Amino acid sequence: MMDYFDKFLVAPDSKVDLGKVDPDFKDKHESHKSALPEIQAYSEKLGELQHLMYAENKRSLLICLQGRDAAGKDGTINHVLGAVNPQGCTVTGFKVPSKEEAAHDFLWRCHKAVPAKGQFAIFNRSHYEDVLVVRVHNLVPKKIWERRFDHINAFEELLHDNDTHILKFFLHISPDEELRRFKERIDDPARQWKISEADYAERPYWDAYTEAFEDALGKCSKKHAPWFVIPANHKWFRNLAISKILCEYLTALDMKYPEPTVNLEDIKKKYHQAEKTESELE
Ligand code: ADP
Repeated sequence: MMDYFDKFLVAPDSKVDLGKVDPDFKDKHESHKSALPEIQAYSEKLGELQHLMYAENKRSLLICLQGRDAAGKDGTINHVLGAVNPQGCTVTGFKVPSKEEAAHDFLWRCHKAVPAKGQFAIFNRSHYEDVLVVRVHNLVPKKIWERRFDHINAFEELLHDNDTHILKFFLHISPDEELRRFKERIDDPARQWKISEADYAERPYWDAYTEAFEDALGKCSKKHAPWFVIPANHKWFRNLAISKILCEYLTALDMKYPEPTVNLEDIKKKYHQAEKTESELE
């Protein structure tokens, strides 16, 4: 069943209006406490599904996380993907391009970080920064960033043709919630290091970012690489929604453990017969 997958999906090639999505949405749940059993069940299930993908070693999953500052990208990685075996997963953050990165095309640094077969890869920010921050701050002319929607769609199609499944999540928070989270950081010694004046400086560009996100989501949500708008004012609901979508999608892939490469009966006879006799003797 694709319940949350369908609910939060951005219809391919649609016009997105983020104003119509309630960032406070929490479905039927009253509170974190009442949602906890469901969150834990999906978390466990996600661990199993990743193990299956790892064992199958045929395809891979790319998860892109985008959102404004304090939208919860780090928290999502910690809470949703914490259930996943680190051996089958890579996480890559995309910051202001280094000198070497800036000397290449914008997809170069992302292509290097896509998942190998059997693996999950998480992008904390992604190639979409090049049609978001770059657009909002005019870091390149419009005629350059405008072409990037086609480049991104072609890139994601290439990955898909190589059995990389792609799911992209926009973490949708309100301006008030962002400010509340910034303030919380000031009062929390464990998070004061995260405070940056640059984050506050982005707030006057809120509407310009909204427009850039809406365009990117609408133009680049494809059947083979869908975008989801996740109500993210409640961190626990964000975690529930993303883990549920991941589980729904991965379950539908109907992955199978590979057949054993040996004859199990032969192995048992050859190596476990003695063990059995020993235990029978006890
Ligand atoms: P984060 O907020 O991801 O934890 P930082 O505080 O270092 O980490 O922010 C990374 C910054 O890098 C963000 O402001 C983001 O917009 C910026 N950035 C990412 N990719 C690009 C890019 N291609 N061009 C310009 N800036 C970028």
